[in-house]
Amino acid sequence: MPELPEVHTIVNDLNVAGLVGNTITAARVFWQRTIAFPSPGAFCRTIKGKKISAITRRGKYLVFDFENSHHLLIHLRMSGRIHLVEADSKRLEHEHVILSFDDGKQLRFHDTRKFGRMYLVDDPENILNKLGPEPLAGDFTLKKFTGRLNKRKRLLKPLLLDQAFLAGLGNIYVDEALWEAKIHPCRIASSLSNAEIQSLHRAIPKVLKRGIKNLGTTLGTGKTNFYSVARRRGQNEETLKIFRRTGLDCPRCRTTVERIIVGQRSTHVCPKCQKI
Ligand SMILES: [Zn+2]
Repeated sequence: MPELPEVHTIVNDLNVAGLVGNTITAARVFWQRTIAFPSPGAFCRTIKGKKISAITRRGKYLVFDFENSHHLLIHLRMSGRIHLVEADSKRLEHEHVILSFDDGKQLRFHDTRKFGRMYLVDDPENILNKLGPEPLAGDFTLKKFTGRLNKRKRLLKPLLLDQAFLAGLGNIYVDEALWEAKIHPCRIASSLSNAEIQSLHRAIPKVLKRGIKNLGTTLGTGKTNFYSVARRRGQNEETLKIFRRTGLDCPRCRTTVERIIVGQRSTHVCPKCQKI
């Protein structure tokens, strides 16, 4: 499932590919439910003729701004991918939405699990204002993070996965950040000491930036894995310290890494570095 670094990598790749400034000449929808808003028919009519003025990210959403009006939000959910190809390339299975551009390229939304969603909206804040702070933004301060954690009686792992608490994290980077900060995922948020909050506040951007630098995490070769534009794999798997390293040594203390279930999610901990 793509998380902040993977979505960030896709946004960077689309910008490098020169998509900004292109005009959409046509849209085709092959799986109706991918279009969450408006109706697929209205989506195709409205998006035609729109010129892209910016491509950015908020949390795990890709955000396309258009000149004059409207914004396209894409959430990849479990298995969504963005393909950028020449218009004459054969349509692959699972390519559910195709946007054609005036330069002869096409953006294709590929989604084996079909949970990904697109929204064409007037005001993106109607969707994005439900998200918590951006962990890589300057306003994600220690003070703000401390205030938010102190109010919560929830277990840390599900809290950090909650997009309304903090935007962009998923299973991989939460496990990595908690290991980095030497905090157990089953700790109650409000029980953290100031020193622990400070470690976690430092660890979250650290693991996200490492993920971005390595162009995202692609695990194994499964069909639903993350691939960026042009179907490029991420390189971050080798640098993961704890995620999916069950039975291997903790890179810090050589204790065997354990897998536990927290809030129904598979979770990886070092029982020595991350004491409950
Ligand atoms: Zn350890």
